[in-house]
Amino acid sequence: MPAPTALPIWKIHADILRTLQVGNRLVLVAPTGSGKTTQVPQMLLDGGIAGDKMIVVLQPRRVAARTVATRVAWERESKLGAEVGYQIRFDDHTSVGTRICFVTEGILLRWLQDDSTLANIGAVVFDEFHERNLLSDVALALVKNLQQSQRPDLVMVVMSATLDAEPVAAYLNLCPILVSEGQSFPVEVEYLSHPDLRPLTLQAAEAVERIIHERNPGDILVFMPGRGEINGTLDALRGLRTQERVSCIPLHGELEPQEQDRAFAPNSLRKVIVATNVAETSITIDGIRHVVDSGVARVARYDAERGIGTLLLEPISRASADQRKGRAGRTAPGTCHRLWTVIGHKDREARNTPEIQRSDLAEVVLLLHSLGIREAATFDWLDKPDPQAVERAERLLTMLGALHEEQGNLTPIGRQMLRLPMHPRYSRMLIEASQRGCVPDAALCAALVSGRDLLARLDRDDAQTKSAREMFEDSEDSDFITLMRAYDFAKENGFSFERCRSYGINAQVARQVEQTFQQILNAAQQQRLHDRDAAPVSAAKNEEALRRCIMAGFADQLAKRRVPGRPECDLTEHRQGQLVRESVVQAATFLVAANLRDAPSRGASSLTLLSLATSVKPEWIAEMFPQHLSTTIEHLFDAQNKRVAAVKLVRYRDLVIEQKAQQRDLDPIASGRCLAEAHRAGAFDLPLMDHRLKQFIARVNLVHSTLPELEFAALDADAITACLARAFKGLSLVKEAQAAPLMAAFHQHLASGQVSWLDELVPLSIPWTDGSTVKLSYVNESPEVQVKLYDCFALKEHPSLCEGRLPVLLSLCTPDGKRLATIKDWPAFLTREWPKHRQAISKKFPGVLWR
Ligand code: ADP
Ligand code: MG
Repeated sequence: MPAPTALPIWKIHADILRTLQVGNRLVLVAPTGSGKTTQVPQMLLDGGIAGDKMIVVLQPRRVAARTVATRVAWERESKLGAEVGYQIRFDDHTSVGTRICFVTEGILLRWLQDDSTLANIGAVVFDEFHERNLLSDVALALVKNLQQSQRPDLVMVVMSATLDAEPVAAYLNLCPILVSEGQSFPVEVEYLSHPDLRPLTLQAAEAVERIIHERNPGDILVFMPGRGEINGTLDALRGLRTQERVSCIPLHGELEPQEQDRAFAPNSLRKVIVATNVAETSITIDGIRHVVDSGVARVARYDAERGIGTLLLEPISRASADQRKGRAGRTAPGTCHRLWTVIGHKDREARNTPEIQRSDLAEVVLLLHSLGIREAATFDWLDKPDPQAVERAERLLTMLGALHEEQGNLTPIGRQMLRLPMHPRYSRMLIEASQRGCVPDAALCAALVSGRDLLARLDRDDAQTKSAREMFEDSEDSDFITLMRAYDFAKENGFSFERCRSYGINAQVARQVEQTFQQILNAAQQQRLHDRDAAPVSAAKNEEALRRCIMAGFADQLAKRRVPGRPECDLTEHRQGQLVRESVVQAATFLVAANLRDAPSRGASSLTLLSLATSVKPEWIAEMFPQHLSTTIEHLFDAQNKRVAAVKLVRYRDLVIEQKAQQRDLDPIASGRCLAEAHRAGAFDLPLMDHRLKQFIARVNLVHSTLPELEFAALDADAITACLARAFKGLSLVKEAQAAPLMAAFHQHLASGQVSWLDELVPLSIPWTDGSTVKLSYVNESPEVQVKLYDCFALKEHPSLCEGRLPVLLSLCTPDGKRLATIKDWPAFLTREWPKHRQAISKKFPGVLWR
């Protein structure tokens, strides 16, 4: 094996050191395998860049942190955990003397909480930054912030194989960029000729078989999204018959360390390594000449269905696919077999979206608060998160009691939640559980939802699994309890694949649940939330306690069944949903759903499906969330009895959870208002809303718009309702409202004195040239009057209202009563229009002396 100093990155060794001797920031782009991860930390250490402090290298993946640390320790001929170490969740291989430490991002963030100045760290290296994990974005922002405030001496290096370096360098105040070109060989890409719907595992195995059959030398790397698919591929490979013996090796984060190392170890046979995207850029395995790419990966997403962040299976971007391809051309020309079509390739996204823009931010917002950063939306991010997502996170944290309702700062509960490495909903549940003595159950619930589904989807006709499932459904109070029973069953049966499958349980998931469960219990124990030796509580009491804990974590998803026995429910914020048929909670009126999902529905409105439900009692709501309860007496219109009815409404936020008729305590004002609004909504007619009143309304509005300086308040729909409410004060029957005099209430709409001005500004009639008065009509936009054409010749000027600002519309009639024209300017009519009509009119009405 060539010396590490032969790696391409060493060509820019001097540049790297020089940049960091004069400045404290560097963006470094070099192809995968050039030696960034293994060499740069050593260069910094040996170049004295971090002084006597530690160099921390952030790794997005646990497997990478561990294997790379092992490699670097080996290169430096020291024991792992001495000069070179690593720390990942639940696994710490560092010591006082550790100078280079590979960690996952979460660990650095935890350190930041313990010591916000990172006093013993001299350099932070952000490796694989192109992955743009939520936590690496957070860490980058926080370290930048720290460097600009208390730690100007802290060195930052951002590294990647594929990074778009300019934006990052710009974000780091135009810091230097170093690029190492590296060497690569051509890779021949092969796509599917048409889409293949068979399992990817089988397709991948066949691709491997083809490569071997064609006698192309070199190791093969297969990309699969996760452990399940990796094992599936290995099974499929075993079923193949190839002339050549090969060594099939899995590589993913859940393997034991020794098993992980097999991928790197020399092998006398050709290696077929089936890996997650850890092998995409994080780690380099020498000797790979062929890549088989499934084209999918598990990506961290905000899963609206569960209301929590989770890993979802998604197509990888074109940029990722190119990285994967590049793994085949490091040492010699290679081949890459993509299990999708050329057309499918074009449909893929060009590159990965930063996780910050697609993820649930509750955990991060909580963390920022703990570091004194309260404005997550306006914080100095490389890419800003969606402000709505931040707001959603803040609302959730407030509901969970982690942030103060008003001041918005961290509460003691919030501080405790920070110490638990899980989504805030579940850390809140666990804290509640510590007070109710049911930590193991709550921890199990959290573990049960942290991975894939434990129970297979029930087929309509699969009677056998259905009856097996019923065995686990021994409580009508929570779907979590069904899952717990199923898990217990799997555990009692040693997670046997066969036993589990016949009961519709995914044994592999159950085994993972077991692991996560233990890890959560350990964390709870460390935080003194749980004492493993404490006496267990009785099962029945425990179940109720657990249901309360679930409510604490999901109170924003409280639902009330509309009609007993029906699936339709109302939720807070005017949301509506339907409980799924499979839920065991078919009787309770109140429930919390841990799972909300938008289902495609036939109609225009979308349908929210509620699942993973737990029944709760209204008195628990009152007990646990008194601050969100409000009681009001409300006046509702009873259309059937044509009257107002008063009801006492108890609400949890905006969801009515209790409703009681209170006929005797009618509030006169509220009752009047209710009638007025019912009228506005068209519930009944008002005979007294007559022509005179309508004229009044029109006149007021005319003055309002023509003479704004007089400040006549407009009578728009709202104002009219307010006037009617005044007129109906103290009334409760439609009959009474219809008999009530209205005018006085409308007069009150105007300021004192304004009513008498009305007759002056917008009179009901005006004097006319023949000595009589003519009535004005105000029903249309402008006041209008019908007059005889002949009479107009006596007009000196056009009649007007509102201090001369509003011309009256004159509707001119000929002696036979026919309308000739409607005009706003008599003198203009007389000079311009009249001459055109004159002859005809004189001829038609010869007896009149036309001018
Ligand atoms: P980069 O970070 O630029 O992708 P690395 O520093 O991870 O590059 O790897 C550089 C080289 O070191 C690889 O090409 C490989 O030859 C060697 N290497 C890295 N990790 C291991 C390991 N665990 N076992 C054997 N060789 C390794
Ligand atoms: Mg690397």
